[in-house]
Amino acid sequence: MPNWINTRDDAQLVTDAQALFTKSFGSAPAGVWAAPGRVNLIGEHVDYAGGLSIPFALEQNTAVAVAPRTDGVLRMVSELEDNSAVTEIPLDKVGPGSPADWSGYVAGSVWAGLQVGVIPTCTGLDIAIVSDVPIGSGLSSSAALECSVALAAFELATGRSPADEERRRLVQACMRAENEVVGASTGGLDQNASFFGKRGYALVLDFRSGELTRVPFDLASRGMVLLIADTNAPHTLSDGQYASRRGVIDAVQHALTPGGTGTIRDIPDAAAAAAQWARDNGEDAELTSRRVRHVVEETARTQEVAHLLEEGDIDGVRERMRDSHISLRDLYQVTTPELDSAFHAAGELGARMTGGGFGGAVIALIDRDVVDDTAAAIASAAAKHGFPEPTFLIARPGEGARRLR
Ligand code: ADP
Ligand code: MG
Repeated sequence: MPNWINTRDDAQLVTDAQALFTKSFGSAPAGVWAAPGRVNLIGEHVDYAGGLSIPFALEQNTAVAVAPRTDGVLRMVSELEDNSAVTEIPLDKVGPGSPADWSGYVAGSVWAGLQVGVIPTCTGLDIAIVSDVPIGSGLSSSAALECSVALAAFELATGRSPADEERRRLVQACMRAENEVVGASTGGLDQNASFFGKRGYALVLDFRSGELTRVPFDLASRGMVLLIADTNAPHTLSDGQYASRRGVIDAVQHALTPGGTGTIRDIPDAAAAAAQWARDNGEDAELTSRRVRHVVEETARTQEVAHLLEEGDIDGVRERMRDSHISLRDLYQVTTPELDSAFHAAGELGARMTGGGFGGAVIALIDRDVVDDTAAAIASAAAKHGFPEPTFLIARPGEGARRLR
């Protein structure tokens, strides 16, 4: 029997976050805030290259119960880490590379919010964290954590919820936390989805123009679902692999755009131009052009999917999803045997890896009546290869970051 992941509703998250807060800090929190994980339908590894992505916020959230302090110290506890251990760091010790463990996502978000100026003030916080977002599965537990904490710090400082422009600046702050404090060079897809997600909608994010549009995403009325299969082969985006993929793209963008500030999308015939640049600079031309081709073609596919979604052409979407996986496998080379196995077992059409790769999850856009068979096929393929047992959930577009209580 496939193993399905349990998800708590908002009321249960509030209860659990409050209980962890009271157990850990001996008092009641001032409020509870939540931010969702996200799933990316298509547009992978293009957010740092001026491309497009189409994610939506999940119904799985990270919730934080928070109270202000007055001594400049952040104290935090997570039900997913050692429950009894409270981690403590003074705000003035937070900065690039510090703290280096999971608390960097939390402390970094507050620090970066203050740096960016969107969080006007903070004199310390007590934070208790509970989460239903699978960790390290490409569903962005990291952004869910950053965004819930940044929102809580913002609302405690201002006494109100953020306007859209402030949400945009909170996104910037959370990206900085992940880039500078944690050292994971992610490109903004995750934090945008977590802050701007809306129930029933997917987001079309254009990373060149900064434009964000919402498209209705209702699979239920078509008798379809988006199945997520977490391979449980965890990834770490802060290790060298993600950075090395990004490094090639950054180098090409720097060398081949005016002032070095443009993106792959601004370079005519980018794959050929990148190959020539690589040859001229003693780099691997074949590899460089393969990486750039992925970015160019994935961006084009994602543009097509934005139109196909508006037209309701789900078959067309499913073809692009399959092609996206093949490109991530063969050109960008960020899949793993576990991801490729799940992709194949899901029938390939409508399936793809999602998230940064090197482990994590596969999604499959399929008819509702084949969900159980598809999950069983993915699980039995994993068992046959001796891979970890996958876990499953159905992805539905949920609300973005918000106050729960
Ligand atoms: P993903 O964002 O796809 O889940 P990442 O590697 O980007 O994967 O982020 C996972 C890391 O984020 C974890 O290893 C941990 O350090 C941190 N993290 C996320 N959620 C929590 C949580 N609820 N409690 C403690 N740490 C968390
Ligand atoms: Mg992440």
